[in-house]
Amino acid sequence: MDLPGRHRAEINDPVESLDGWDGSIAYLDRDGVLNIGREDYVKNVDELVLLEGAGDAVAALRKAGYRIVVVTNQSPVNRGMFSHDDLADINQAVIDGLLQENSDAHIDLVLYSPYAPWDNSPVRKPGPGMLQVARQLLSGMPLEVTRNSDLLTERFDEGRSFMAGDRDADMGAAYQHGVRGFRVNANVGITGIIDRLLDDEDDGDALEI
Ligand SMILES: [Mg+2]
Repeated sequence: MDLPGRHRAEINDPVESLDGWDGSIAYLDRDGVLNIGREDYVKNVDELVLLEGAGDAVAALRKAGYRIVVVTNQSPVNRGMFSHDDLADINQAVIDGLLQENSDAHIDLVLYSPYAPWDNSPVRKPGPGMLQVARQLLSGMPLEVTRNSDLLTERFDEGRSFMAGDRDADMGAAYQHGVRGFRVNANVGITGIIDRLLDDEDDGDALEI
């Protein structure tokens, strides 16, 4: 079974529980949502530029009761363009940068897909695998990845969960996992939709493919 990589942890390590959590997860793409993306990938920390306001937006989502998960396609890892360790440095810089902007901008979990498009892995977006694994980790469930989320959704309630991303692949992953999908302008990032996310939570027609 393909599994995603996890930031500076083994995939099966337990995730800290949170009292009073209603089960809602904000699944966030990384590049174009939290930081500025690059056509040739963010390959090192020097190329990382956080989008202004991303830390405040993450903090606002946390305050609204969401746990925050980053799910990012990083095929250059398996293609040998950079290593798992290089990626860990970049992801840590994202985590640190968000906290620098807002000390409440805590990320609960960072998962990445090292698979190349031709691997056809369910763990690479638009496959739902990273979202499934994140849900299972946060809910203390055994890990299982399937292309058919219907096989899994009876076992948990995604509540107000959503996926935000700038690409078709993100919207596809949202659809396949069975949560709302919000398209983000890659030049603005999560800040550009934060009002919609917080004000129109019950508005179920936000799915865009
Ligand atoms: Mg992106």
